[in-house]
Amino acid sequence: MKQLKLRAIIMVILSLAFACGMVVFTIFYAVQGGQWALFPSNSHIYSNGTIVQAGKITDRNGVVLAKTVNGVRKYNSDMQVRKATLHAVGDLKGYIKTGLHSSYIGELTGYNRLNGIYSFSKKGNNVGTTLDSRVCVTAMNALGERKGTVGVYNYKTGEVICMVSTPTYDPENKEEAALAKEGKDYYKGVFLNRFLSSTYTPGSTFKLITTAASIDTFSDAYTRKYTCNGGVMINGEWISCLGHHGTLTLKDALAKSCNAYFSQLAADLGEDTLTKYAEKAGFNETFKMDGVKAKTSYFNVSGGKDIDFAWAGMGQYTDMMNPLQYLTFIGAIANEGVPQKPYMVDSVETQSGIPLKFSFGGEGSRMLEADTANKIKKLMQNNVKQTYGTWNFPGLNVCAKSGTAEVKDEKPHAVFVGFNDDEDLPLAFVVVVQNGGSGAKVGGPIANTVLQKCKEVLK
Ligand SMILES: [Zn+2]
Repeated sequence: MKQLKLRAIIMVILSLAFACGMVVFTIFYAVQGGQWALFPSNSHIYSNGTIVQAGKITDRNGVVLAKTVNGVRKYNSDMQVRKATLHAVGDLKGYIKTGLHSSYIGELTGYNRLNGIYSFSKKGNNVGTTLDSRVCVTAMNALGERKGTVGVYNYKTGEVICMVSTPTYDPENKEEAALAKEGKDYYKGVFLNRFLSSTYTPGSTFKLITTAASIDTFSDAYTRKYTCNGGVMINGEWISCLGHHGTLTLKDALAKSCNAYFSQLAADLGEDTLTKYAEKAGFNETFKMDGVKAKTSYFNVSGGKDIDFAWAGMGQYTDMMNPLQYLTFIGAIANEGVPQKPYMVDSVETQSGIPLKFSFGGEGSRMLEADTANKIKKLMQNNVKQTYGTWNFPGLNVCAKSGTAEVKDEKPHAVFVGFNDDEDLPLAFVVVVQNGGSGAKVGGPIANTVLQKCKEVLK
């Protein structure tokens, strides 16, 4: 009798342990099942750690950027398209973490918790993007051998037309892919999508934010004068200016990008106001595109002095901007203060065309008052008229600001941001050329080349 009781107790304990195990397994399966199934040793999806079974990735015109043919993953047949869209599409080993081959691997392989990776066709799902591969190629060629990024999006809809990062490589060229993996010289940092995963010193493009703060803070913002003597002394430190501008007002100061004017203005605005406007523009906030996190832009002048505010208000000091965040802010200026969130994934569909997921776009939170945004738009339009030259952007209505961002011990970064103020071609852009030199001279022509291509191919 005693023995029977003992056996019963053991059975109860074993049953409880089994039940607990099932609960734990179910929870793990629900949470991590995707990762298990998508682990690179799963031979249904991967072969030698390389993706094979996955659906098509296409651009906005249905051009195939990547697809699987007879168990082999193939990119577009044009080498230039392969290189220009590589950071958006991703490599096959997952080195480019933000590429669709990594970030959308679940959608592409058709993984779901009910069937595992087995979709009926065993071909996964197709992912459609908003990119125009022709514009991406144009942007890549405009950047040439230089490192940097070009992002262009429709500020009315949020569609990202162009997202290019250089250096890049041809994923179907084995020798080049090996050099990329080595990551030396030209290929250093090649797996980084600079549009999403980098931050840069914004330089004078930050003067747009200081301008917004001035317009909202000072009732005399437009008539307020500061003097430039080829620079200005603040807290005993000389801040030099590229020109000798004399006494000027906001409109001229922005068009001439006068450091003396903006450093005095920023010092008068002070810590709290500068921080408030930087954060309204998206600094210190993590942006996402299609659910993929970008690197966070940084602004911090806490406990600083006038000289620190002066440098920070001109986009130097410790300021760092992320191109996605900056593009969104430029979109807000163009769109009466409220940005459309940039997105690239337009659709995820089964092989038979049943939609599974819709885009991540939509309205972002307000970054500027509508009136302030429209005033800045006019000032940016004047920058082109007065400084960059309307003739440098033929047939377009470009509003822009350049930045020549000083970086320690290296040639400055060329930054050029703005938008085409046109209902029929509502595009905002961010151009960054690492160690490229002058923002206007280097970034301006790249922006024009890419916008002209957009004008030609987008309808
Ligand atoms: Zn000046």
